[in-house]
Amino acid sequence: MQKEMTTIKLEPQRAINIYDLTLPQLTELMKSWGQPGFRAKQIYIQLYRNLAPSFEAMTDLPAALRERLTAETKLGVLQLVQEQTADDGDTRKVLWRLPDGNVVESVLMLYPDRATICISTQAGCAMGCVFCATGRMGLLRNITPGEIVEQVLYFERNLRNNGFNAAHRHDHITNLVFMGMGEPFANYDRWWTSVEQLHNPQGFNLGARNMTVSTVGLAPGIRRLSTEKIPLNLAISLHAPNDELRSALMPVNRRYPIDELMAATQEYIEKTHRRVSFEYVLLQGQNDSVELAEQLADLVKGMLCHVNLIPWNPVPGAPLQRSHRKQIESFQNVLLERGIACTVRAERGVAIAAACGQLAAVPQPA
Ligand code: SF4
Repeated sequence: MQKEMTTIKLEPQRAINIYDLTLPQLTELMKSWGQPGFRAKQIYIQLYRNLAPSFEAMTDLPAALRERLTAETKLGVLQLVQEQTADDGDTRKVLWRLPDGNVVESVLMLYPDRATICISTQAGCAMGCVFCATGRMGLLRNITPGEIVEQVLYFERNLRNNGFNAAHRHDHITNLVFMGMGEPFANYDRWWTSVEQLHNPQGFNLGARNMTVSTVGLAPGIRRLSTEKIPLNLAISLHAPNDELRSALMPVNRRYPIDELMAATQEYIEKTHRRVSFEYVLLQGQNDSVELAEQLADLVKGMLCHVNLIPWNPVPGAPLQRSHRKQIESFQNVLLERGIACTVRAERGVAIAAACGQLAAVPQPA
């Protein structure tokens, strides 16, 4: 009998993105290459402290190793597609292309006292919040730890070098918010690896209290976060104080209704003793009435929390309006009178669609 021939098609080996590797993984790799034990740490310092722009620039490594690293790994995979500025250079949005052609965005916001970056954790988002441009894209894919970290390193490198010539000069990132495209808890493992990488005192060493993660309200993610060792800040997108309204604005509420969300949040507070922020985007005639402010006050009363009111930023095609200034003030006053800490978020980057909820990974006209 004739033997059937099968052809095995080998996928071309993709080079490792070195930013995807944790220090123990890098140590493993160096070991497999026959390198001495201290090499991985040397490379890690070059990557995260010195922000080396190339393997060639890592002059404390032997030339042969630099060549092998260049041949077999990649020092980052993000390709800068477009960079735009607003607010006299104090807001800067970058559009990145990922190796598979998907795109994500990140935003730098410079203030007199801080330099904050807003980072994406997914390409697109599956959560479908009606007021958000990213939600309209659907989920394209989860991005890798390296693809998250690289967004941060780009801004840090540029701040160190020239401060982007903005009015408010900073030479390093002071704050990081995971509030760009995507829901971090829907990409938890990869996102958390990026947090560990950025926090690692042997490398980038960004303080836990300088990082904030924002969630749409995935209760299991909130519970999981409360067990983590890195005490970063938690912001919860609430946007409505009752299930009917919240489900209309945020489909995720049908999966994790307000009772469950608040129970998970309370558990988080009791376990960590950390204050949470509730984010509340204000939409004219939808969720901005004084009655709803009262409901919101009842809902969060007694919790260790802060409410952050966000005037809605326009999203093309969304049949919504931003609340009037007077209405925002009335809403805020109700909360303040009820003893709830509450601020209104300052606007940034609206002109270049870099503000909250506007990120849609669409190149803007120059
Ligand atoms: S607001 Fe956040 S969770 Fe909701 S669709 Fe937009 S990116 Fe996703």
